[in-house]
Amino acid sequence: MKTLENALQEGRRFLKEKQIADSDIDAWYLLSFLFRMNRAHYLMHSSMPISKEQYCEYMELIKKRGNHIPLQHITGEQEFMGLNFKVSNEVLIPRQDTEILVQEVLKAADGKTVLDMCTGSGCIIISLDRLGNIKSGTGADISASALKIADENNTRLEANVQFLQSNLFEQVQGKYDIIVSNPPYIPTSDIETLMEEVKDHEPSIALDGKEDGLYFYRRILSEGTDYINPGGFIFFEIGCDQGAAVSQLLKEKGFQDIRIIKDLAGLDRVVTGRYVNQEEPFT
Ligand code: GLN
Repeated sequence: MKTLENALQEGRRFLKEKQIADSDIDAWYLLSFLFRMNRAHYLMHSSMPISKEQYCEYMELIKKRGNHIPLQHITGEQEFMGLNFKVSNEVLIPRQDTEILVQEVLKAADGKTVLDMCTGSGCIIISLDRLGNIKSGTGADISASALKIADENNTRLEANVQFLQSNLFEQVQGKYDIIVSNPPYIPTSDIETLMEEVKDHEPSIALDGKEDGLYFYRRILSEGTDYINPGGFIFFEIGCDQGAAVSQLLKEKGFQDIRIIKDLAGLDRVVTGRYVNQEEPFT
């Protein structure tokens, strides 16, 4: 007869043997996911017997994780900004670093219209809509299958975001007070060096920033200025070594008040600037 504790120990051992990073934590998450149980409940009931079927079901999840399938693809969810988002292999799994971007936009977003370019799961714009006081939120993405997930998240989290299938700005209309984007920013040649979980299971369209990783910053800046109200802001998430290069791109486009914001690890993570249209100065 197996107990919850036996299952957890076996899960931990298996994942460690498969050299899964954070094996102990992932074994625990899968147990807590399957048995819908928090830590306190487990500590009180760890010697509770489980059925053979339950044990096998748990070990099936563990085996998937042992094959480097991301935890979030097994559970189908990821917490972001305290909200529970649905995820799949069609969208980038929301990252904790991106919460820095959302927190920064929240400081400027009261009563503003916001466009999230390359919205993926919709985690950025849905969080802004739910946690902020924005006037309206729009999310654009080239991928129809990503937008399906974004739409499901919109309903699941009772948000009120409009989603739009668009190759960058092709289908975007009107102007916005704020454009926010976490575009693909990994240089193509670095993708091979990423963890198996990322390079083999997350959509490469959400990762690949082409040759130098800056392709989408250039495109969004050169096309996006037609879609920002004078005096409006742009907010980008960036790779930790892209702060200087992306700031320079903003400068070349005439942005002002350019700032780099660091993440919790002290690395450059967000670049922002204010768009002042030269022809119609903001008053
Ligand atoms: N905006 C989404 C996120 O931050 C997707 C980003 C992407 O696909 N590059 O998670």
